[in-house]
Amino acid sequence: MTFLLVARQSYHCSVKSRKGPRFRHPSSLSAVTTQITSCERCPRLRAYCRGVAAAKRAAYRDWTYWGRPVPGFGDPRARVLFLGLAPAAHGANRTGRVFTGDGRGGSGDFLMAALHRAGFANRDTSDHPDDGLVLTGAYIAAAVRCAPPQNKPTPDEVSACLDHLEAELAHLPRVDTVVALGKIAWDAWLQLLSRRVAVPRPRPVFGHGAVFDMRALPGTPAGSRGSARLPGRLVGCYHPSRQNTNTGKVTARMYDAVFTSLPTGD
Ligand code: SF4
Repeated sequence: MTFLLVARQSYHCSVKSRKGPRFRHPSSLSAVTTQITSCERCPRLRAYCRGVAAAKRAAYRDWTYWGRPVPGFGDPRARVLFLGLAPAAHGANRTGRVFTGDGRGGSGDFLMAALHRAGFANRDTSDHPDDGLVLTGAYIAAAVRCAPPQNKPTPDEVSACLDHLEAELAHLPRVDTVVALGKIAWDAWLQLLSRRVAVPRPRPVFGHGAVFDMRALPGTPAGSRGSARLPGRLVGCYHPSRQNTNTGKVTARMYDAVFTSLPTGD
């Protein structure tokens, strides 16, 4: 079974129909990036991102905002994929790199500090696409690549954007663990997984530290390599939003407890 891109027949009116030409399956990770950054499938989200980029926040008035869909970034040999929700309007939608530019102590810094402590990142902050950040053994992506109003993508927008994650995964053949940063990312991964195998119902429940072993699912090509290979584990982790970190719902110690259990290196 291959991780093929599937052209869906139609969507809610806010998402462009994918009748007509099939979604192309790029031949390299860089080609996937190009496809993502030029995507216009969701008119509502594209209009919102462009609008934010044009209006800007006063603190960033000297920036030329990215304003386009944000691809994943990290180590192509990663064993762990960290999956977030979507770019922040004045974070990744401004900088063009996921979990980057969320401000001092924001989501990106909290996540990067934890990745640094666990040995996945060479820096403990994520400010700017030219800050020298290098990930080793980790790749970070978002379930939805365009910043949504109020951080709330519609189900159709999530579904449309999962094709991009599917395409990226086809070029990340060593990923064996997916860390879902928040319930929306968890649910999005299960939705993507259900395109390939039968996901049990009721669906596995999201929680911080929750683990769903995907290797036992019927139809899982366990042990196979390349684009046919499925990651083995889904791990839940509360999102590093200020709302969670400032209220103590999630702490650095809680992140360390999850991250130190993840595979690193070869
Ligand atoms: S959210 Fe995803 S599918 Fe929709 S326009 Fe952005 S990149 Fe394309």
